This record gives sequence, C-alpha cells and structure tokens, in this order.
Amino acid sequence: MTLRNGREFLAIPGPTTVPDEVLQAMHRPAIEIYSGTLLDTTMRCLDDLRGIFATEGRTYIYAANGHGAWEAALSNTLSRGEKVLVLGSGLFAPAWGEMAAMQGIVVEELPASYRHAVDPAAVEERLRADTAGEIKAVLVVQVDTASSIVNDIPAIRRAIDAAGHGALFMVDAIASLATMPFEMDGWGIDVAVSGCQKGLMTPPGLSFVAAGKRALEAHEKADLRTFYWDWTQREGPRHYNKYCGTPPEHLLFGLRKAMDMLLEEGLPAVFERHRILAEATRRAVAVWAEGGALAFNVLEPRARANSVTTIRLEGHEPAELIGYADKMLGVVLGIGIGDLTGQAFRIAHMGHVNAPMMLGTLAIVESSLATLGIAHGKGGIQAAVDWIAEAAPATVQAAGAETLAGPRAAAPGE
Ligand SMILES: *Cc1c(COP(=O)(O)O)cnc(C)c1O
Repeated sequence: MTLRNGREFLAIPGPTTVPDEVLQAMHRPAIEIYSGTLLDTTMRCLDDLRGIFATEGRTYIYAANGHGAWEAALSNTLSRGEKVLVLGSGLFAPAWGEMAAMQGIVVEELPASYRHAVDPAAVEERLRADTAGEIKAVLVVQVDTASSIVNDIPAIRRAIDAAGHGALFMVDAIASLATMPFEMDGWGIDVAVSGCQKGLMTPPGLSFVAAGKRALEAHEKADLRTFYWDWTQREGPRHYNKYCGTPPEHLLFGLRKAMDMLLEEGLPAVFERHRILAEATRRAVAVWAEGGALAFNVLEPRARANSVTTIRLEGHEPAELIGYADKMLGVVLGIGIGDLTGQAFRIAHMGHVNAPMMLGTLAIVESSLATLGIAHGKGGIQAAVDWIAEAAPATVQAAGAETLAGPRAAAPGE
C-alpha cells in the first residue's frame, strides 16, 4: 500500500509539468504543412518568442532540445579556431563549452564554482587582458539547473562594457525564460537560447534561438555554419525552410497554447508567482537546514534561482529520499547532477506550478525526512505557509482588490 495514487507531482527541473490544456491542444490530427493555419501559428510563435525574449531581433525555432539550440548559436556566429570564454556556475555553461570545443572552437573557462555565481569583476579583468581581442564570444547561463545559481546577466554585460570588449554575449535562458525577467535587448545580449520544456511548459522537443544585430553580422562570416542550423536557410521563401523540413506540428500546437496561457497571465505575474513559490521553498529549506544534514547548495542568498533549488544532503543517500518520496508519496524530486551527483536533490518550482503543488511537494519532503530519520529542523512547512500567507494577499491586492471579493477569475487556458 502506498499514498501515491492520485495526481503525481513532478518536481524535477525539466521536463516540467505540462498543463492539461497544452496536452489537449496537441491532441488533434496532423495538418497540411505548406499552407493553411500552420503558417500563421509559426509566425505568431516567432513573434511571441520575440516578446518573451524582449528583443527586436530574429527568432528561430528548432525541432531539437536545448543542446540543439546551443549548437545553433555557436555554428551560426563563429569560425573554426576562434576563442570563446565560458563563465561556469555549475554544469551547463561548461557543457556548452565542451560542445564548442568539438566544433573546433578554442574554449577558455574562467575558474568557476557550483556554489558561487559568476563574478563580474573577474570577467572584466579577463577581458581587459585580452588586448588582441582573441575572445569572440562570452558564454553564460542565466540559471544553472544543476547548481540552482542565478547569474546577474546585466552585471556581466556591464563588465564586458567596462572592459571595452567586443565579444558577442551569448546567454542560455533554458531554465529561466518565463520564470524571471529576461531583457535581451535591454541587457545587450547578442544571442539567447532557450527550450520549450522548462518555464514554457511544453513537452520536450523544441528549442529557440534569438539573434540580435551583432550576431546577424557575425553570421555573415561564420564558417561553422551547417545547413540544418543555418539562420539564412531558415529565412528562405517557404514555410518549410523555417524548420529545415517538416514542422514539428504538434509541439507547435502545444507551444502556442502554453504561450497563450503565459501571456494571458501576464509575464510580470508569472515572474512574481515564481518568486513567491521559490521563496516558500527557501523558507522551508532554511528551517530544515538547522538540523545539520541539509544545506543550500548556493551560498549567497541572492544567487539562489527562482526556478529550482538544489539542496545538499550530508550523511544520507539522496537516492533514498528521492525514491521514497516518489514510490510512496507521489512526488518526483530531481536528482543531483554534474559535480553534485549522489550528493544533492533538487526541488523545481518552474513552469506550471501553483501554491498547492508547491506546499504539497514541500510537505512530502518534510514527511520523507522524518520517516527516513534524516536530521532536520522542525517547522519548514509552517515557515512556507507563513510566507505564502504574508506574500499572497499583497500580490492579489496589487492585481486589484476586487479579485478577492468578486467572482473567481478563470485560470489561464480555461
Ligand atoms: C535543461 C538545460 C539545458 C539542456 O537542455 P536539453 O533540452 O536537455 O538539451 C541547457 N542549459 C540549461 C540551463 C538547462 O537547464
């Protein structure tokens, strides 16, 4: 006998919970690909992606996961033998660098840690020393999904500017887009990449690249270009060119619905929802950590992401906790990955997630800690509940006091 039958709560940082409305939007026959409504769906998706990235630049949709978008970003803008500077803060920027190395790009990694965000001063210092301008691009992630670090992207831009350096600024927003502010043009980002299966609530299989003016200029002389990823090919005259082949129709139907839901909620409200639910998680973890066995992976509070929280576990196997929560209680937690393999677990608070899902997830973690005899401070759930009690009314009032008394507003997608 278990307590898991009922709706499973998926609390891993990607793929994230897919809303029923998105699944339903995909449940339809295939349609014609050369004319008809699919063309309009593509154009609206490309436009709304521009809005979500906050750019006037070009957007591209690939039938690929996030790794595909990484390759697209590199191959469209760089040439064999050119150098990139990788700003690590966990697993993902170095992995992007590994991909670059295999493409024939020279990769330099700034010394990095899983526990500290990228230091803009160190970036400035390294770029100042590059008087010959050998570094052609700077690669960083906004949120590293392994460490749960959020990097200060505008501060890194200011560091590049302070060094007077002309490298392209490439940002991976795969685990952050639609969970926190992202201002591609406002922050001087040249290339941004993202995927559909995290904040964008769509089954995995689509990824996105946004390219600004300087990236499109670099594209003209890049020699790593290949047919499938090539931006110029994708600007070809036929709709078919936009996908370099058959469009991934059903994923586009899903993405369209997911973006409608996000835009209906309003991005500022989406970000605020993530901030409040992430903080509820952090309040609980801070109390649990008093027991000595659990600790925030990210040492500086302001570098803790609003999309995922990585928790180190000492003296116990995270697999035991993760397995128990899943098999007995119906909550699927994330495993530790990269340098944190076997040392941590992760709680995602990203995408289609609300207060009851988050409080339920946290309660299951606390209950599992108790059952498994893992030392933890008592009252984590109370701290999370108190935080929601404090934060939620202020948000509702900011949205208009009548929302409290009047009829219940339809949820996005309803
Ligand atoms: C998930 C993720 C990736 C990789 O995306 P895939 O779709 O798994 O290829 C890259 N970067 C970050 C920050 C991610 O969270």
